Amino acid sequence: METENKKKYTIELVRVGCIECGACAKMAPTLWEMDKKDDKANLKNATDRRIKDNVVMSERIQTDDIKGYEGYFQSAKCCPVRVIHIIDNETGKKIEIYTQKLDEIK
Ligand code: SF4
Repeated sequence: METENKKKYTIELVRVGCIECGACAKMAPTLWEMDKKDDKANLKNATDRRIKDNVVMSERIQTDDIKGYEGYFQSAKCCPVRVIHIIDNETGKKIEIYTQKLDEIK
């Protein structure tokens, strides 16, 4: 979708793979919340939701915001099942959050 790629990064939660541990919401409560119905994480203010058979499969948001980006970076890093991704919209590739430091990718 053309409007999706106006900002520098896409934050993606592959929600269907969430194991409901709550680590992201503890790490960055302004960015994530746990859903009261199915106990999975929700990406706050997501602008794009992929739904199949009434199940939210994934959620996305675009950001240039470095502060928000740091929170996304740390919460992505703490997700035990690695279902939070940060995608560089210029290259279309996922940021290597496990091998790179935040300073290196700003
Ligand atoms: S850290 Fe990962 S598995 Fe845990 S609640 Fe967040 S998205 Fe789900």
